[in-house]
Amino acid sequence: MAKEDYELVIGLEVHAELSTKTKIFCSCETEFGAEPNTHICPVCTAMPGALPVLNEKVIEYAVKAGLATNCTISQDSKNDRKNYFYPDLPKSYQISQFDKPLCSNGYIEIEDDLGNPKKIRILRIHIEEDAGKLNHNELSGGSLVDLNRAGVPLIEIVSEPDIRSSGEADRYLKKLKSILQYIDVSDCKMQEGSLRADVNVSVHKKNEPFGTRHEMKNMNSFKSIQRAIEYEKDSQISDAERGITISQETLRWDDFEGRTFNMRDKEDAQDYRYFPEPDLAQIKLSDEYIENIRKSLPEMPESRRARYMSELGLSEKDANLLTASKALSDIFEKAGEICKNYKSVCNWLNSDVARILNEREEEPEQIPFTAENLAELVKLIDDGTISSSIGKKVLDELFENPRSPKQIIEEKGWVQISDESAIKEVVIKILEANPGSVADFKAGKDRALGFLVGQAMKETKGKGNPKMLNEMFLEELRK
Ligand code: ADP
Ligand code: ZN
Ligand code: MG
Repeated sequence: MAKEDYELVIGLEVHAELSTKTKIFCSCETEFGAEPNTHICPVCTAMPGALPVLNEKVIEYAVKAGLATNCTISQDSKNDRKNYFYPDLPKSYQISQFDKPLCSNGYIEIEDDLGNPKKIRILRIHIEEDAGKLNHNELSGGSLVDLNRAGVPLIEIVSEPDIRSSGEADRYLKKLKSILQYIDVSDCKMQEGSLRADVNVSVHKKNEPFGTRHEMKNMNSFKSIQRAIEYEKDSQISDAERGITISQETLRWDDFEGRTFNMRDKEDAQDYRYFPEPDLAQIKLSDEYIENIRKSLPEMPESRRARYMSELGLSEKDANLLTASKALSDIFEKAGEICKNYKSVCNWLNSDVARILNEREEEPEQIPFTAENLAELVKLIDDGTISSSIGKKVLDELFENPRSPKQIIEEKGWVQISDESAIKEVVIKILEANPGSVADFKAGKDRALGFLVGQAMKETKGKGNPKMLNEMFLEELRK
């Protein structure tokens, strides 16, 4: 049978660290990047007798996530112990949720590979605590345990196996990330592990039941996830073709080698011996509590997109690009508001800023300058202080060492030459140096003018006011 006779099935379990100030069961800070074991206490290091107290913000954030993904919020939920033994889990169990998750039966809308809208169902969203971190010491061997992350709140968002291609998986993850950022419950910094996915992949022949899945744990790069799915698809189809039975396994994707490795056979729910957490009360939520959170939800990407098109006259493509990221869309709104030139702010963000981010392999959240900086850059161009080609150089500076664009052009001496006599001087000089082009122009070759202006821009190192140069050349040539 051919590859086309198989169907690919993907289900994603996404872990997102919530951006609460304190941990889920104690008042330790959650901030990333602190010295190892400085954000710890008896509760999150599992000292005997220390008892957990549930952080109410965690419930609020998880309910927000549930509402933003069209879930039903359970008014009667609870915590459970999930037992497993690993050195970064000091209690030897994780407090999670088993049979009564906080949110269930939602969906996220994405586009399928043909561009048609498609709903990916969400089975459940539950709250749980993160584990600590093992730092493997390559030099001396052995591992050091850092418990700063132990007890950082997580939500786990489990999709139904509705995803049918690596492209759909990519769009689902990006959409989910953008939703979580819009409602401001997670910073979703993948490079810091704030957003990571377990990727379940299986294949089956068309019109037959689903195949057995392979699960790849803890993936935190969109690119690797796509590559891993494509790899698994090919490898599982080739196994199926050769009559090899696929067993349920947990795998590790190796980005360098470009293949997966077996970590362990997959455990089942019974291996975890779940039972209700006896140290915590049940979670009962009133209608009013849930409704208040619903009312507090901010404007979502769809609505922003519609507004950008109807009120600001942006194209659908531009509106889509901007709203795909909350960070980008926030900068756009704020900078546009300040300089009143939304169109130009949009062009900067979607072309030059996007290109630089791409080159740096960074996300819009990592843009180092402020909306005020960008608005000032647009204003400097609009009022003729600098040309747009100097504007590009200012943008490079904003990425390298963010500061006020006014200060940048002063430091660098990049102010546009708009002085009439200075412009005239350059024009005369270029005309004298290029008699051939002058003759061409007089013979009706309009292109010669563009060449002359280009030479003048070169002469002024990009600082000549292009509009004035154009006019001055025409004036002189027509004399
Ligand atoms: P576990 O925690 O044991 O992995 P869950 O039920 O929490 O189990 O998650 C199962 C995940 O695997 C879900 O995202 C689901 O959509 C996905 N899944 C289930 N069956 C398949 C399958 N046959 N192929 C691919 N993914 C699957
Ligand atoms: Zn603590
Ligand atoms: Mg799993």
